[in-house]
Amino acid sequence: MFIKAAVLRETASGVPYDLTRPMEIADVELAPPGPGEVLVAIKAAGLCHSDLSVVNGDRPRPLPMVLGHEAAGVVEAVGDGVSDLVPGDHVVSVFMPNCGHCLPCAEGRPALCEPGALANGGGVLTGGHARLSEKAHALHHHLGVSAFAERAVVSRRSLVPVPRDIPFVEAALFGCAVLTGVGAVVNTAKLTMGSTAAVVGLGGVGLAALPASSPTSRRRICVNAICRACWPERYSAPSGSANPMSART
Ligand SMILES: [Zn+2]
Ligand SMILES: [Zn+2]
Repeated sequence: MFIKAAVLRETASGVPYDLTRPMEIADVELAPPGPGEVLVAIKAAGLCHSDLSVVNGDRPRPLPMVLGHEAAGVVEAVGDGVSDLVPGDHVVSVFMPNCGHCLPCAEGRPALCEPGALANGGGVLTGGHARLSEKAHALHHHLGVSAFAERAVVSRRSLVPVPRDIPFVEAALFGCAVLTGVGAVVNTAKLTMGSTAAVVGLGGVGLAALPASSPTSRRRICVNAICRACWPERYSAPSGSANPMSART
């Protein structure tokens, strides 16, 4: 089938992006899901720093590529061997498809899956191929998803089913921002009761780190690195924070 997708053909030549427009909305071809794959209608997708790092070349990836990896949508079809999802199920994307068998997966750290990282680096699905193409030329997938599109074909390993009553916009955040923010508190910082934490930047990741740190921290400092031009006049302190502080002060 043909779908509309945002294609990055080469790294951005300059900013601001609303003028240089590094991505082009194009009609591209999406192949049906193969074995172990799922066709998803994308309902919401977030713009993450990892997408921007590909746009500006900080994170080199094979191009052309359809970006987007933080997404929520509805299953439309499943490939052979997918028995635990059916059309109509709501799903959230996972930016690291995990094989379940390699050493990091066996150790309970699927975010470090070796075959998953290999596929992501090559801009392909875990089977080693792309399901996106344009005029018979393959388009690369971003982090196994490519969600800046009307639909996506992804590995079953790139999806987590979610309840249907979660709004798509909020559900999409669990595809990256919540994982990253909560993971920073729980797995990286390993905050303990009574810890003091500084959350630098209140985008999706920072806002997810705040509630994650609340059970363990008595005091927190929020440094707003994103809205400093309007903090605190237009933005109140996020719930659960203490000692909010503007980066400009
Ligand atoms: Zn991300
Ligand atoms: Zn693995």
